[in-house]
Amino acid sequence: MISTRNPFKRTAMSVAIVAAAVVSGTAYAGVTDKDIVQDAATPGDVVSFGMGTQGQRFSALDQINVDTVKDLVPAWSMSFGGEKQRGQESQPLIHDGVMFVTASYSRLFAIDVKTGVKLWKYEHRLPDGIMPCCDVVNRGAALFDNLVIFGTLDAQLVALDRETGKVVWKEKVDSYKAGYSMTAAPIIVKGMVISGVSGGEFGVVGRIEARDAKTGKMKWVRPVVEGHMGYTFDDAGNKKDNGVSGTVNATWPGDLWKTGGAATWAGATYDPETNLIFAGTGNPAPWNSHLRPGDNLFSSSTVAINPDTGKIVWHYQTTPHDGWDFDGVNEFVSFDYTDPKTGKVIKAGGKADRNGFFFVLDRTNGKLLNAFPFVNKITWADSINLETGRPNYTKGGRPGDPSESKDGKKGEVVFSAPSFLGGKNQQQIAYNPDTGYFYVPANEWGMDIWNEPVSYKKGAAYLGAGFTIKPLHEEYIGALRAVDPATGKIVWEHTNYAPLWGGVLTTRGGLTFFGTPEGYLRALDAKTGKEVWSFQTGSGVVAPPVTWEMDGDQYIAVVSGWGGAVPLWGGEVARRVNFLEQGGSVWVFKLHK
Ligand code: CA
Ligand code: CA
Repeated sequence: MISTRNPFKRTAMSVAIVAAAVVSGTAYAGVTDKDIVQDAATPGDVVSFGMGTQGQRFSALDQINVDTVKDLVPAWSMSFGGEKQRGQESQPLIHDGVMFVTASYSRLFAIDVKTGVKLWKYEHRLPDGIMPCCDVVNRGAALFDNLVIFGTLDAQLVALDRETGKVVWKEKVDSYKAGYSMTAAPIIVKGMVISGVSGGEFGVVGRIEARDAKTGKMKWVRPVVEGHMGYTFDDAGNKKDNGVSGTVNATWPGDLWKTGGAATWAGATYDPETNLIFAGTGNPAPWNSHLRPGDNLFSSSTVAINPDTGKIVWHYQTTPHDGWDFDGVNEFVSFDYTDPKTGKVIKAGGKADRNGFFFVLDRTNGKLLNAFPFVNKITWADSINLETGRPNYTKGGRPGDPSESKDGKKGEVVFSAPSFLGGKNQQQIAYNPDTGYFYVPANEWGMDIWNEPVSYKKGAAYLGAGFTIKPLHEEYIGALRAVDPATGKIVWEHTNYAPLWGGVLTTRGGLTFFGTPEGYLRALDAKTGKEVWSFQTGSGVVAPPVTWEMDGDQYIAVVSGWGGAVPLWGGEVARRVNFLEQGGSVWVFKLHK
């Protein structure tokens, strides 16, 4: 039966075929909306980015705990192979005995999760001339029914058959020649695949799109730059106006909103309790803020969208009139917040923003509940006004206007912290309901930044700024911090020489796992921050670990492979960490018994 279906593989990869037959079988049930909504509560699988669409990255498993973690050992490792190493930022998914993990250069692997044997690999054919700003990364796939769906560096969405790796549908999202690309993991909401776009450094227009996950056909699109029309689509593909986002020219002057950026490059989270999709939006384009007076909605914000209507329900802008490329793409993580004044439990969300402040919002309406720094040095704002929800800007914190300089070519240079790579960047936070803490992989760095004249040219960098990133301390840049959302206190921190660029996992076992560019996967006591375990993976870890249970054993997995934005954009920091080696592999661990 297998041999007629797959004659080539029978000889070349007989072991894999046996494994594939066992896992595929006839009893396989596809991933459902219910599986996805319940993902966080079902430790037998990981079927969504964020280990649950709310994005908490918390597991109730406790077999691996503060006492037993010393016996955690590798079960297997698999190389992504080839010459295509570079940044590996992917979160693996695990379902029905198979791991699905993406790799650099738009690759996707299916692996027998018991043995580590590769079942199949998909290598997307990338054209010359793709323009990913920040390395050839991918952060993961989405599962729905029998499909594995991911975005590619040439701005396509590809759905593969989970069993064979064959393309079932493929949709062009936008033109890579105009600077669009895709690096985020899509999420599934009500049978729709929800995706964003990368390209904020090229003057793209950020948006969230919803497609029928089974067919790839468009359901709705919602631009997140004020002035652009949203659309819904019928089954025949006819599009219908669905209202303009915001009001044309209310917070943008002239025509700049037409190439306004606000790239949704880190994707979105979804909260089934409020039925809202939360998308982070990137910097307004260009970086030179003197060209675009106003708040420039909905850039550098969290935008809440109703998946049934494709309309914006609320927004909260973390950096109005962003002049530092602070973006606002950082994930918005739903959690129950106990108001310290009233003791009332509020449906809230937490976000560690690139601009250095941690924000707690009421996730039903976007109202600010708390905001506090999670890094040591912030130069652009003194604080966030809890009444108005707006920053108290620091005088002289904004890089100068080049048109006020002598030759009109370079504005006043300002030293700014955090650097534009952020107090936190793509590396995902985690929330542990047992401790009540968020775990934030933070970085302490600043930048010299200045503005220059610039005009939009399709497919060209659209910054109008120059910069040099610098460390703030000799001893460390990275700091994993346990943050109390109610008090705003940093409860403990674990510092790291290189900048942290990998996400966090936290568990009922009282542990917090994270990786370092130096190659270590580390486990800390979630309460105290004390290091209780580490393992050297052979290359830098810039991806989030996951955990699941299989046949009575708890497993941990993480991808290893140094890269991402730091070596490309990091200035003095990039030089400081240029001893780090690239790689590309996935590691799986369990307790030695
Ligand atoms: Ca699950
Ligand atoms: Ca940006």
